[in-house]
Amino acid sequence: ERQKHIRNFSIVAHIDHGKSTLADRILELTDTVSKREMQDQLLDTMDLERERGITIKLNAVALKYHAEDGETYIFHLIDTPGHVDFSYEVSRSLAACEGAILVVDAAQGVEAQTLANVYLAIDNDLAIIPVINKIDLPSAEPEKVRKEIEDEIGLDASDAVLASAKTGIGIEEILEQVVKNVPAPDGDLDKPLKALIFDSIYDDYRGVVLSVRVFEGTVKPGDRIKLMNGGTEYEVTEVGVNSPKPLARDILMAGDVGYITGSIKDIQDTQVGDTVTSADNPTAKPLEGYRKMNPMVYSGLYPTDNAKFVDLREALEKLQLNDASLTFEPESSQALGFGFRCGFLGLLHMDVVQERLEREFNLDLITTAPSVTYRVDLVDGSEKKVENPAEMPDAATIKAINEPFVKAQIMVPNEYVGAVMELCQRKRGIFDTMDYLDDIRVNIIYHIPLSEIIFDFFDKLKSNTRGYASLDYEIEDYRPSNLVKIDILLNSEKVDVLSFIAHVDFAEQRGRDITAKLKTIIPRQNFEIPIQAAIGSKIIARTNIKAYRKDVTSKIHTGDPDRRAKLLDKQKRGKKRMKSVGVVDIPQEAFMAVLQTG
Ligand code: GDP
Ligand code: MG
Repeated sequence: ERQKHIRNFSIVAHIDHGKSTLADRILELTDTVSKREMQDQLLDTMDLERERGITIKLNAVALKYHAEDGETYIFHLIDTPGHVDFSYEVSRSLAACEGAILVVDAAQGVEAQTLANVYLAIDNDLAIIPVINKIDLPSAEPEKVRKEIEDEIGLDASDAVLASAKTGIGIEEILEQVVKNVPAPDGDLDKPLKALIFDSIYDDYRGVVLSVRVFEGTVKPGDRIKLMNGGTEYEVTEVGVNSPKPLARDILMAGDVGYITGSIKDIQDTQVGDTVTSADNPTAKPLEGYRKMNPMVYSGLYPTDNAKFVDLREALEKLQLNDASLTFEPESSQALGFGFRCGFLGLLHMDVVQERLEREFNLDLITTAPSVTYRVDLVDGSEKKVENPAEMPDAATIKAINEPFVKAQIMVPNEYVGAVMELCQRKRGIFDTMDYLDDIRVNIIYHIPLSEIIFDFFDKLKSNTRGYASLDYEIEDYRPSNLVKIDILLNSEKVDVLSFIAHVDFAEQRGRDITAKLKTIIPRQNFEIPIQAAIGSKIIARTNIKAYRKDVTSKIHTGDPDRRAKLLDKQKRGKKRMKSVGVVDIPQEAFMAVLQTG
């Protein structure tokens, strides 16, 4: 029957090894999209993904494949991101599949995220089809990579497909292996509905659109469904598949990957990882959901216009539907008013969330410098978690401050080993091991405080190695460090959102660097503004922003209307990301300035 002709699979790989390009070729070869509609990285549907050339969200698409055996198969293909910040998306898509195509770059070989993602696939008991991609490159060494896959991952790679997603070599063979090696889904059609929500988006017209993998039973328009976690019930208005545009179907059955809509307006009710069942005939036990992800980096998000607080909350709720790893809680700042403290899986994730909020929800935001979660042991024996530097307790009540450390794995050509080690030492790193992977590449492992990683570590690493180093890290443990809170005062007023935590040994230098930096960022006014850095009541650095001379303003009174309009426009745009704190206007950059020091 029908199930026998379904194959559900993902593509996993290290970033840039060619997942999205391979997905393009598969869509082309199966005529899922016409030549006219075809564009590169078709499944990267967000503007942000296209601009940056990276995949952020998982994406599911249904396609038809006419196989060599004369049968027609329905493939559900899920493209996934490769960057470590988005591995949550990967683990969710894998739970909806029976197989995974593992793409390895023939020139780069097995890399950190190749391993991480393949382990996720193995954990989910998926059939794995190794593909060695980019064999068209002159530097390709497919046989060496085949051996790496066997030695480093422990997979049989004797049948690994040699492919080029660029030129189209090997694509057909990959699809044939999917038919032969990925098991067809099983699951009883007659049992009560049991479907896993692996993603969801909010659509202004259709309400919440649930992406589901049906494991048992069937679902069709008119059915009453129940979301098991919250117990809420809805009537299904539409079911269908993405091909890649939404395509309504009469029914979804066990084994299918598709979507369900049911004019679900209540965003809080729908959680990724939840099970959808029939309201009238519910299944006894929900599916195993997902491991909850703990945010690692926090920052404050504030609307530039205080009146937009409610809009920001709505936007965060909608975005969270589509990004289950985002967390947020209201917070308030003396300087910035009402906003949210948001938790992210990493810096790239933070960047992406801010951009999506601004683009998809039309908001202007001020983000504060990211910080990590500190665990503070207090003198009274209790422990306090501090996600916001401004909330660091009074020094007199603190026994010890513990900070998260990461195990950082840096791969680099041997000529840069010295530069990398020097940087790691400067960032309070603790050396672990160094291994030669071959004649050229060295793998260096350091234990480094996460807070140092989020302060410009990656940029420095890239610039010190002419872009050759790759960095991968995982959170390891909390370790006690000698840390202090540094406050920033503008015009003698403490600006709470500019407070940050630093190691004692670097505190004074950081204080001097940031006051100097702020001096260049904060616009002059018609009075002098002192900038000070302080630890407790002790001022550790100070400088002044000079008042501007009166005649500077007169330059704006230009006669040329064109130029005048341009100037006004420029002023307006400049204003957007600016916040008045007391009598001082602070631009967005100032809140991030601390990241560029140290
Ligand atoms: P992803 O990050 O794994 O999704 O990788 P992409 O599909 O975005 O590809 C990363 C880069 O590698 C892009 O510039 C592609 O054009 C290029 N690329 C992908 N496959 C091949 C291939 O088979 N040969 C060559 N030469 N380049 C490829
Ligand atoms: Mg991609």
